[in-house]
Formats: sequence, structure tokens, C-alpha cells
Amino acid sequence: MSKTQVFKGGCFCGAVEVEVQGQPAAAGICHCESCRKWHSAPVNAWAIWPEAMVKVTAGQDQLLEFNKQGSDGPSGRSSCKRCGGAVFNRKPKIGMTVVYAMTLEGSGLVFEPTFHCFYGEGVMHMADGLPKFENLPAPLGGCGKQCDEPSSTGFRR
Ligand SMILES: [Zn+2]
Ligand SMILES: [Zn+2]
Repeated sequence: MSKTQVFKGGCFCGAVEVEVQGQPAAAGICHCESCRKWHSAPVNAWAIWPEAMVKVTAGQDQLLEFNKQGSDGPSGRSSCKRCGGAVFNRKPKIGMTVVYAMTLEGSGLVFEPTFHCFYGEGVMHMADGLPKFENLPAPLGGCGKQCDEPSSTGFRR
């Protein structure tokens, strides 16, 4: 029997530990204003799994959930009460959970983004050859329109 891949991760201080099973359904880089404000970063690396595949293995009582209504229903952005580190974003309406890829161990090696989303509202150009959706791909509820590949990577002027 082959063993399902397990990714371990958690918050900045380590109080909240998360375990994710199997490969993500999708992974990408988000440029939306909500992600920018919440993470205080120009882009956000995300990966999404069915909610049952994402388990909090320690520090459930340390989780703080902030709900904001989005185009895909309420979004439970969850962080650690102690260190403020973001860990995941529950999307109960679609039964999925977005895990912030960089909180997973070895994420720099295992994270394989396949597209950029909400590139239209972004502040940074990334010339990496990946598709750049103005908002989301059509199968994920977006308009499916793609932005042109920029000539270089850097903040937009
Ligand atoms: Zn923490
Ligand atoms: Zn976003």
C-alpha cells in the first residue's frame, strides 16, 4: 500500500500545528488586496485541499478566525492568537481549505504554483511564464480572462 503524502506545518511560534494529507487540488499565487492586507506581503502563495484533508494537530484553542464575505462565500482566515501567524483560510461554502503554502515544512521545494490569480488588482509583476488570471480561472468561478506576461519582475510603477 502506498503511503499518502503528509505535509506538516503551522504558525510562526509553533503553538498551532497543521497536517495536510495528499497533493493539493490546486496551487497558485494570489495578488488580491485581501491577501496583501492580511499577510502584509505583495503576493500570497496558496494551496487548496478538501477540508477533510487539513487537520489541526495542536493548538486548536490558539486559533483565531476572522470571517470576511468573499465572492466564494464566507472566508475563515485563521491565525495564531499568540504570534499572529496566518495558517489557513477555511472556505465552508465550497468545502475546501486554503493552506498558506509557506507555513508547510519544505514548502519552498514542494510548492508548485500553476497560475497567478487576481493579477489584475496586484501591485507586483512576476515574469515567470505562468498564466496570469485577471481574477480567477472560469472553473473556479472567475471570468477566465488572462493578463499579458510582463517584461520583468518587480513592483508596478
Ligand atoms: Zn503561533
Ligand atoms: Zn488573495
